[in-house]
Amino acid sequence: MSLTSRRPVFQAALHAWYRIHHRKLPWRDAPSLYKTVVSEFMLQQTQVATVLPYFDRWLRELPDFAALAAAPESKVMKLWEGLGYYSRARNLHKLAQAYVAAPTKPRTPAEWRELPGIGPYTAAAITSISFDEPAAVVDGNVVRILARLTGEGRHFRDGTEAVKFFAPLSDALVIGSIPGEHNQAMMELGATVCLRANPQCLICPVAKFCAARATGTPDKFPRLKPKVIEQESVTRVWCEHRGKLLLRRGHAKAKRLAGLHELPEASDLGIQISSLRGARPGDEAIQLDRHGALRAPRDDKTGTRLLAVKRRAITRFQITESIYAAKPTAALLKHIAKDETLEWVPLKQLDQITLSGPHRRWIGDLSAR
Ligand code: SF4
Repeated sequence: MSLTSRRPVFQAALHAWYRIHHRKLPWRDAPSLYKTVVSEFMLQQTQVATVLPYFDRWLRELPDFAALAAAPESKVMKLWEGLGYYSRARNLHKLAQAYVAAPTKPRTPAEWRELPGIGPYTAAAITSISFDEPAAVVDGNVVRILARLTGEGRHFRDGTEAVKFFAPLSDALVIGSIPGEHNQAMMELGATVCLRANPQCLICPVAKFCAARATGTPDKFPRLKPKVIEQESVTRVWCEHRGKLLLRRGHAKAKRLAGLHELPEASDLGIQISSLRGARPGDEAIQLDRHGALRAPRDDKTGTRLLAVKRRAITRFQITESIYAAKPTAALLKHIAKDETLEWVPLKQLDQITLSGPHRRWIGDLSAR
């Protein structure tokens, strides 16, 4: 029997479980449209545990759409600092401004999709939770549950193809339910029971509907082509001068880093990257000559050193970042003076600017050396 033909009993089992076992989360406590919108933005690509302190601080500082709309962008970015994917913060800010200015407030998924940063998933989540719109959410969690429940064995090229495939089933399952509760129950099941690597089938409220469980290897569903991981190398420079640290401020129109500060890349400073390769942390490997080019050091005291090698992953990219200490030579200072995105920030005032999360950590580590 198909899942849709057993929909009422499936919904009853799922919802009964959700009412008892859902996690107590601040956006579910005295829920409001604003709390739902903020939490949905913060939770995109981010774990609940990471979001919690940010959400609390955000609500204290910017308690409603009007406060967010009126806040300067620098405050919005500072509150988001460390949460990553900063376009979410900028879009949320613009959304609040559009919402406050709108003479008729959006209600349906189609109307919400007109607002900045709102895609099909977020529109369905917000409108089902806040307005009881019968719109089903479909993301990686929901795909995983539906692929397992149905035992769907086909191979998907990627997550987008799988979302498209399961959207009709997801829509069919939300009909006749309390849509907000249904969507939250599906998300909760994916986050706490039907886990990616270790599904907890013994305590699963919908185990009796599950085809993958019977195979003995439910974790093999959905069948997604493995992601191709791309390796990238970035070379950055740590340059201190008269109690200040050299940083690069993302251009206001930059897609990812607008308004955010980072350690500059060697190429920002006209430094030759090729000569940095092969060095290891602690090597007295590199020194700038008077043209800003790098070469072997003459001695340990003046040599520019490789300070640290950091690794991080962003979507499908595995990035290796090498950070070198460079001396502020006359040639380098001249180069810096000509570039308005390069800024000397007093070391004592680093807390007052907005740094991306990894750079805040790295600078903290390197300052404490
Ligand atoms: Fe997921 Fe196991 Fe529940 Fe199936 S029985 S939905 S695999 S947790």
